[in-house]
Amino acid sequence: MSEQVDVLVIGGGPVGAALALSLKDSPVSVMVLEAKAAPQRDPRILAMSYGSKLHLESIGAWAGVEDATPIETIHVSQKGGFGRTILTAQSAGVPALGYVASYQDIHHALVSKLEKGVYLEGACAAEIDLSESWGTVDFDYQGKRRQIAAKLVVMAEGGKLVEHVREIERKRHEYGQWAVIGQVSTEKPHKNRAFERFTAEGPLALLPRGEGFSMVWTAKPEDAKLLLSLEKTQFLERLQDHFGERLGKFVDAGPLTGFPLALSYAVPFVSKHLALIGNAAQTLHPVSGQGLNLGLRDVRTLAREIMEADEIGSESMLEHYRKMREIDRKGGIFFTDSLIKVFSNEIPLLSGGRGLALASLDCLPALKDAFSKTMMFGAGARSIL
Ligand SMILES: Cc1cc2nc3c(=O)[nH]c(=O)nc-3n(C[C@H](O)[C@H](O)[C@H](O)COP(=O)(O)OP(=O)(O)OC[C@H]3O[C@@H](n4cnc5c(N)ncnc54)[C@H](O)[C@@H]3O)c2cc1C
Repeated sequence: MSEQVDVLVIGGGPVGAALALSLKDSPVSVMVLEAKAAPQRDPRILAMSYGSKLHLESIGAWAGVEDATPIETIHVSQKGGFGRTILTAQSAGVPALGYVASYQDIHHALVSKLEKGVYLEGACAAEIDLSESWGTVDFDYQGKRRQIAAKLVVMAEGGKLVEHVREIERKRHEYGQWAVIGQVSTEKPHKNRAFERFTAEGPLALLPRGEGFSMVWTAKPEDAKLLLSLEKTQFLERLQDHFGERLGKFVDAGPLTGFPLALSYAVPFVSKHLALIGNAAQTLHPVSGQGLNLGLRDVRTLAREIMEADEIGSESMLEHYRKMREIDRKGGIFFTDSLIKVFSNEIPLLSGGRGLALASLDCLPALKDAFSKTMMFGAGARSIL
């Protein structure tokens, strides 16, 4: 007889850990399998929306990321074209539009609140069987193959194992872009402003982080490799040329890392005894920092469905979860994908249209307000929490 739990989460990244923490004080039994034996350094710096901050607060994890840098203004523009939009926390009626923190700090804040028996480090899921009345998962732990049965299996493993689940198809679109990320500093202070600058090669984001900025520079793979190989002074010159003088001179840059970028998403994102959340359900382009935020909204909905279910993992519970997440998920995929397709080119007609769209958004307070709310709380959000 294998071990049994109500909910088995495969993948203990920020999204899987947030689900386990959301169920902590409920009667639901949960176990998280995390393949890594110990937390490893992850260079990603993430912008969390104001909605995500409220969510982390509600599950008791915000205290661990309190030194996150608030974003009070977002400045959106395009290189070589007219039109720009400025979103402010003040006009959106919130203390900050978002907060910038390291993947590491967010992850630690969540995992440190979980009990050891709930979060199994070094446990790598290998096979999933959904054909019986419970889902069963075979996993490798401390040199042995073990099995666990669950009323509901939740995949939060980032998307790799999903590709081996017969019931789920994983759609994929390569952007032919890499993100080059690292910490940079400028002559002028950031004043809690974030910048998203669209260029024909891809977006360049500067997020306020500590005294400087966390940079996400999207470029073609060959250009990204070149950027990664440059001496610091040469790199700073390139960055200056790419971003312009709005922040004065770029004066320093820390170590850089490259990430290949693709859109991939699961169809369907539920099956018998199975629900997908976070990057396992949808892995997005990092433009406009939507991935973790969308994943945390998956968590909030799924946790509520689990706690309110007559039968955990039943078809009706999963169908309700699917319906509740459909609009926001499709919205997130469509929004980020469209931004890349519309902005990453040099077609003159499109450049004019983009400029007009940015300028119009800037001039229409109601539209801007609706846009800010969608970015903070998701598409189709009826309430903050
Ligand atoms: C350059 C870059 C910048 C980004 N910026 C932002 C941003 O500003 N804002 C934002 O919201 N999002 C951003 N994102 C997206 C964000 O990083 C992801 O959406 C988020 O990390 C997803 O979390 P997750 O827990 O779903 O998956 P992951 O972080 O991928 O975690 C998955 C976990 O599952 C584990 N795992 C894998 N396979 C197995 C297995 N077989 N068994 C057990 N465990 C397994 C892994 O070890 C890992 O710990 C960015 C992404 C990139 C690449």
